[in-house]
Amino acid sequence: PNKKDFDTMRKLKVFFAVLIAATLLLGITYKGFLKSTELERTEFLFDTVCSIKVYSKDAKDALVAAFDEATQIHLLTNFFDQDSDVSKINNAKSGEAVSVSPEILELLELSERIHSASDGAFDITIAPVASLWKFDIESPKPPSDEQITAALRLVGRDSLALDKSNSTVTKSFDETKIDLGGIAKGYAADKVAEVLKSHGIDCAIIDFGGNIVAFGKNPKTDDGKWRIGLQSPFSPTGEFSKTVEISSGAVVTSGTYQRFFEYEGEKYHHIIDPKTGKPSTQSFDSVTVTAESAALADALATAAFVLGEEKGTALVGEFQATLEVL
Ligand code: AMP
Ligand code: MG
Repeated sequence: PNKKDFDTMRKLKVFFAVLIAATLLLGITYKGFLKSTELERTEFLFDTVCSIKVYSKDAKDALVAAFDEATQIHLLTNFFDQDSDVSKINNAKSGEAVSVSPEILELLELSERIHSASDGAFDITIAPVASLWKFDIESPKPPSDEQITAALRLVGRDSLALDKSNSTVTKSFDETKIDLGGIAKGYAADKVAEVLKSHGIDCAIIDFGGNIVAFGKNPKTDDGKWRIGLQSPFSPTGEFSKTVEISSGAVVTSGTYQRFFEYEGEKYHHIIDPKTGKPSTQSFDSVTVTAESAALADALATAAFVLGEEKGTALVGEFQATLEVL
């Protein structure tokens, strides 16, 4: 090789060395940039872990507003708080028109829609039966058939009437009670997404106890999509056995493993079939619904748990949603 060839080779080498160094540097800076703009906060609300992760500069105020909104919804819907709107309804006499907040009205309307669409599988008036199944006591055991039959008389379409124009709700029986546990977390995740957007956040992921809402481009993936890992039910290590991919929207999981007890070798979980008053019997342990809204996906996931895979798939299809069971 002559001197000219040698020079060209050296120039090429230098060029590639600089290129590699620049790429590395850019990568490191980009990762550092992502880290510096990532902000996560976690709180315990709705009896579960609620986290919000935003990718944006100056997101502190947005996060405060988001958790204020979540807390407000928690306070309105909390079955165990005597000051909640839900308790106001539950403590009312039959025939009394109870005024409720716009949020509760919205929740009741959606619950009514899913109740009809699911042929009663999703039913917020399940509360008198659901309360018979105690999960938080020392040694839980199933209620008697007599107790279940008596409580089931209070459950169903006729036990609650909604007056949308006056924002009131009226019960048919003094003992009618509602439980929004099957829809409130998803609803809150939706509302939090709206609050974040109104504060100028254009990219975030919200996870309220398995009720996930993501919007904007995921800065951590090449294609900007969000990949949600679905936990293997009852896995001690919590490993993922499937992933669901979305550009934006909601992914909601309902699982028996989230709340259950064992009695005489039988597992009893927290999703009650309103037809029997007992935990639904299915061959799967978790249902994941992917939909535009998390409130919708939350209610649909609970309903699908009662209906089973075939009927559940048909139901979610009516709402342009999809379903996975594990
Ligand atoms: P999720 O985790 O969203 O499936 O909701 C489960 C919770 O919803 C339970 O802990 C109960 O508070 C409530 N629930 C149980 N069975 C039903 C049902 N058939 N319809 C509506 N809510 C229910
Ligand atoms: Mg639900």
